[in-house]
Amino acid sequence: MMSGITGELWHRINEKRGEYLQLLKSLLSFPSVSATGEGMEEAAGRVAEVLEKVGLRSDIFTDHGGYPIVWGELREERHGTLLIYNHYDVQPPDPLEKWTSPPFQPTIRNERVYARGACDNKGNLAARLCAIDLLLDTIGEVPLNIKFLIEGEEEIGSPHLSKFFQNHREILSADACLWEMGGASPDGRPHIYLGAKGILYLELHASEKRPDLHSSWGAIVRNPAFELVHLLSSMRDRSGRVLIEGFYDDVQMPDSETVALLEELSGFESEVRAIVGDEGLLSNKSAKELLFDLTLMPCINICGIQSGYTGHGSKTVLPSSAFAKIDIRLVPGMRPERVLELVKRHVERVSGGRVSVVPLDMGYPAARTHPSEPFVQLIARTAESAYGMKPIIYPSSAGSGPMYLVTELLQMPCVAAGIGDHQSNVHAPDESISIENYLKGILHVALTIVNFVPFMRGGVTPYL
Ligand SMILES: [Zn+2]
Repeated sequence: MMSGITGELWHRINEKRGEYLQLLKSLLSFPSVSATGEGMEEAAGRVAEVLEKVGLRSDIFTDHGGYPIVWGELREERHGTLLIYNHYDVQPPDPLEKWTSPPFQPTIRNERVYARGACDNKGNLAARLCAIDLLLDTIGEVPLNIKFLIEGEEEIGSPHLSKFFQNHREILSADACLWEMGGASPDGRPHIYLGAKGILYLELHASEKRPDLHSSWGAIVRNPAFELVHLLSSMRDRSGRVLIEGFYDDVQMPDSETVALLEELSGFESEVRAIVGDEGLLSNKSAKELLFDLTLMPCINICGIQSGYTGHGSKTVLPSSAFAKIDIRLVPGMRPERVLELVKRHVERVSGGRVSVVPLDMGYPAARTHPSEPFVQLIARTAESAYGMKPIIYPSSAGSGPMYLVTELLQMPCVAAGIGDHQSNVHAPDESISIENYLKGILHVALTIVNFVPFMRGGVTPYL
């Protein structure tokens, strides 16, 4: 049973459960699909309204050029400032027929809230806003300056976020940043992420200045599909190791404290095997080695390949072009522009100029906060109190996000924690969160805020 401040706050959260579910629903009942633009016009205004209702001063920025960024602030003139990053845009809800209830009509079934954005990312935003309400309601103040940065382009790769950071560096100043996402294991153990990989997304094009030909010409004429396949197989060996010269040169190898975090991730291997099956892994490395590769090493992936005839039945053709889409996940030390140069050099050497490299954008580097940072320890301690279990700390998410803007540009520690779980179906039909995790998420953020100044200044957590 929860005791002390944690218990009191938990008690009040449960009294206000209906109100907190209502706040969540108010964010989930309008579309805000950045990929198609659906609902985006009104969305920022509606988010700002919710912020104001909770008691934050809000602003809407558009000078970065993309969908509006909603800014929220609570200035209490205290000795610390927490920056909170979230996004209000969501993934398209398709395929609609796979939803049990309509994606923008939040519905409760089996103690879960179903809607597009329930987890990614409106649920996380709602929990953080409720934490502010909870503190205003119970202790009458929020003993910390709070800044909310809520963008509208996360699901399309945050193309204008760096512009916003450059334009508004001064308002972004803070002591630490709480990143958008996180979750818990099936047994309720909270997960915390100390970083995100960077990314570089490329297309590889092979083409000949001739039309498609009868495939009998294949005996003597170049086939761009073969050129491309030959190139792709030169980029990575069968165990996943990237073969591009110099690819690993800039990788900053993690220190022992970072690697030690992987010891805690005991259930990982069985979780992965449940998804991909026993034969689905690239190699028969140990669970710890797999985790090391997944979270701390770069990788290259083919997202799609297209060439020639792929329809029903046979068509004997010698295609005139072929292309592939590739993503490369980066870790600290690697710069996207440098990796692009290495890829171009490799492609030139192997294909003799017959394949061209087209980056879709310039990508971004990785971010990682060291486990010894006080903010990491604060988030871990408050998580343990809120969830009643020691958190699992991932040194990095396996996925990418523009977290480098915080860690590199603002030079601030950045940690992700949130309310998802293994059933959240993020980006898929029937996205949902458990009400229990949502309420615990509110508690976690509230405990983090009240203990922030005492812990960051004196290493103590008096309010647990
Ligand atoms: Zn997402």
